[in-house]
Amino acid sequence: MTPGTAIVVFNRDLRVHDHPALLAAASFEAVIPLFVFDPSIAAPPNRLAFLVSSLRELDVSLTKLGAPLVVRRGDTSAVLNALRDEHDVRAVFASGDYTPLARRREQRLAPETFPGVALAAPGTLTPTGGDHFKVFTAYWRRWREVAAARPVLAPPPRLRSAGVSGEVLPTVPPTKARVPVGGEAAARVLLRDLALAGYASGGHDDLAGDRTSRLSPYLHFGCVSARECMERVSSMGADGDAFVRQLCWRDFFLQFEAAQPEPPDPMPVTPSREHTRLFAAWAAGRTGYPIVDAGMRQLLTEGWMHNRARMITASFLVHDLGVDWRLGAAHFMHHLVDGDVANNNGNWRWVAGDGLNTRPGRELNPLRQAKRFDPSGAYVRRYVDDLDASDYPAPIIDKTELAAARNRQLT
Ligand code: FAD
Repeated sequence: MTPGTAIVVFNRDLRVHDHPALLAAASFEAVIPLFVFDPSIAAPPNRLAFLVSSLRELDVSLTKLGAPLVVRRGDTSAVLNALRDEHDVRAVFASGDYTPLARRREQRLAPETFPGVALAAPGTLTPTGGDHFKVFTAYWRRWREVAAARPVLAPPPRLRSAGVSGEVLPTVPPTKARVPVGGEAAARVLLRDLALAGYASGGHDDLAGDRTSRLSPYLHFGCVSARECMERVSSMGADGDAFVRQLCWRDFFLQFEAAQPEPPDPMPVTPSREHTRLFAAWAAGRTGYPIVDAGMRQLLTEGWMHNRARMITASFLVHDLGVDWRLGAAHFMHHLVDGDVANNNGNWRWVAGDGLNTRPGRELNPLRQAKRFDPSGAYVRRYVDDLDASDYPAPIIDKTELAAARNRQLT
């Protein structure tokens, strides 16, 4: 047994399975599993609700192992210093994270970091003559050789509590959106029941069929590890491969975000009055383009949107309405339960052709997309119940204008 106390600072690794940092702490005489509500971390209502339910669940699991979760509020460095003053703290462990905000936090706290967030940590793979990849296919080829390097770990058999008290978890007001219950138990049920039949051959893009895993909020908060997801699908052939490729996008955008000196300015220059009007209609799901409106209303009612709909709605805002992608990204970040700086910025940049797309200016024709990915209209009808109502808006932009835009490039 290692003498003294180890603190494990939880962040977006809210689980006990496959948690290298927690496993390392288990050898210490005493453990303080810590979560700090730090004011520097933004948590809009949907993500806060998911976070708190995930923390409740984590506390249950940690209590069963012997050391309940200690919840504190305030600046994380100050909380750590106070704990150091009171206890014989010999080590501070955390899962390494790589967004600019996470890196700044790690610089302040100087924990010993362990893998657990990414499958391939940013910096592990670099292209010839550069420090990060900008082209996905080149990254994917290299990534698949290293992503499964680490084995999936069982939870520690037992933790010895340092007997530290914390605060009770906050009560979260009901959210407008139907936010799923967070936490490791729910994530593990999703993973256990994951059926990917047909995922590679169109299931992934089937809007009405809703055949993707819906694991994204659980992956964002680390209620399950990407490594374990990868292991789970390893016997699923082409469907498993296609799913692993999606997990690779997650690392691809993380290594891109990690290479940015600063996150993009969250707000563009004040949008014009016309852009403000167009943006408001888009955000409310009232553009008069049913497939766009369905996606935007799914976001408002579920705090989540199908990936194909995210692509269609993002493309529509940027390429058809001409609005700055950062406004759309901020709206997504406010509502998405899986809102993730690297994935969200990266995907928006990719759609907008801003430094991350081998085909800049990629535009999706919403009419063609609807025909192809929602041929029966079932997805649209699920979210746009006023389609036949007299006050359903007329198309916000002229169809001829849209057609002209389409002629520039059709996808
Ligand atoms: P599945 O198809 O089951 O995929 C499995 C996992 O792979 C996902 O849970 C996710 O972690 C990862 N993944 C899948 N597609 C992508 C992708 N394109 N980029 C990165 N990772 C991916 N994803 C987020 O997690 N957070 C975001 O804030 C986010 N914002 C987005 C914004 C835009 C404009 C677009 C086009 C996509 C965005 N995505 C984001 C990616 C993707 O839409 C979601 O990860 C996916 O829809 C989640 O559903 P799922 O878990 O059922 O996916």
